Amino acid sequence: MKLLFATPECAPLVKTGGLGDVSAALPAALAALGHDVRVLMPAYGALEQSAGRLLALHHVPADGPWPEAQLLHLKHDAGIEFLLLCCPQLYGRPGGPYGAAGGDHVDNALRFALLARVAALIGSRATPCGWQADVVHTHDWTCGLAPLYLHQARAAGDASCARSVLTLHNLAFQGVFPMELAGALGIAPQHRGVEGVEFWGQLSMLKAGLQFADAITTVSPTYAREIQGEALGFGLDGVLRSRADVLTGILNGIDTAVWNPATDALIAARYDAASLERKAHNRAALRQRCGLGAHAPGPLFGLVGRLTRQKGVDLVLAGAERLLAHGAQLVVLGSGDADLEQGLAALAARRPGRVYAALGFDEPLAHQIEAGADCFLMPSRFEPCGLNQMYSQAYGTPPIVTDTGGLADSVVDAQLQGGTGFVMPEATQAAFDDAVQRACATWRSAGRWRQLQLAGMRRDFGWAQPARTYEAVYERVLAADD
Ligand code: ADP
Repeated sequence: MKLLFATPECAPLVKTGGLGDVSAALPAALAALGHDVRVLMPAYGALEQSAGRLLALHHVPADGPWPEAQLLHLKHDAGIEFLLLCCPQLYGRPGGPYGAAGGDHVDNALRFALLARVAALIGSRATPCGWQADVVHTHDWTCGLAPLYLHQARAAGDASCARSVLTLHNLAFQGVFPMELAGALGIAPQHRGVEGVEFWGQLSMLKAGLQFADAITTVSPTYAREIQGEALGFGLDGVLRSRADVLTGILNGIDTAVWNPATDALIAARYDAASLERKAHNRAALRQRCGLGAHAPGPLFGLVGRLTRQKGVDLVLAGAERLLAHGAQLVVLGSGDADLEQGLAALAARRPGRVYAALGFDEPLAHQIEAGADCFLMPSRFEPCGLNQMYSQAYGTPPIVTDTGGLADSVVDAQLQGGTGFVMPEATQAAFDDAVQRACATWRSAGRWRQLQLAGMRRDFGWAQPARTYEAVYERVLAADD
């Protein structure tokens, strides 16, 4: 199959979170199954100069409100074939993919609508690059208009149009803009109502994708169920229930070429299940790097991620003194909400040698925390999939997680057969404090702790199986008659 992966971020070029990892690993796994996969992504900043070997350059002409653009067909060293969308007036600016320090880029509607439009063009007979995709696989709100554009092209007579698949990585981000933009973004009048893109009087790019995609997937079976209910449906649960027949939950994999303690070049000492004792070198190195005491009577807890309430970081902050009372240490890496960043910085200043907070994005340190910590913290309020709890199991670092979304689907509680971590029944302070207490008590029993570590390290979180499940989804949408 010719598969186009349309995404706003893809590691190692651009990554702000889990979507960046998935956008690299899933196409690679699909290519390994024999498919012809290309990744369409904007060329942010001056990305095109560092992205790989140029195979071809294609022109995308201006058309009405759409500015002209170029498509660079590149082969990246990591093996991925990119179609980088170059339009300097929209993407060639400082800041991240979605915004800069002052907030979201003000023209995000046009920036991502162009990405969606070009994705749909590549799936149509008007493709600008001599390669027409069979399936356009889009992600989250940023490419949500692509299924709508493909639907419109098919309705206008292009029977060869690609089928569309939309994957939801986080329903909390919806791409809502003023409805006045609908005309300029090429949304046909009949699709501007509540059966189309309208969301409480505004235009929702994510809703557009949910309404018009031929199949919808999300990143864990539990999250697929949760988003059909009011509590985690973010106002779109009704739309999701109406499309339940095409909605599937597929647990993400992890990229075992990048996240593997036996080969990880970013950590102090490589190890596997047979040489687990070498993990202690990583703990020592992490303590040294973070200025923590070389010995502690309790475990070293680690946390990496966006510092938000979604991730339960406020529970960690509020429970930190009780955690430290177990003789534990804590290392946190992340950036996010100002109050949580300030709270963590203050905690670290108050507790030197016991707590270290690195505020920012630091890929090597993320690996060093996975390898060096004893126990990983991820008490999220909701978690579509989550990757760090899988990384931490692969690194023999049992996680504390909440019984939600992909956390529920990937961690087995220590009290059960084959336990790999500690599952909080809900994201409350009492449940968090209790899980920390259980983890500290278990850690004191070296044999039981080792059992948990080994059970986690034995699990297969690779992409081979999920890639085959996606393949089945593509086959299904291609087989469906209109
Ligand atoms: P998200 O909801 O942010 O996508 P995930 O757990 O699915 O959460 O994925 C987060 C990814 O981003 C992981 O690979 C994690 O290691 C990485 N990450 C998050 N914050 C940071 C940071 N501050 N520094 C380095 N890596 C980070």
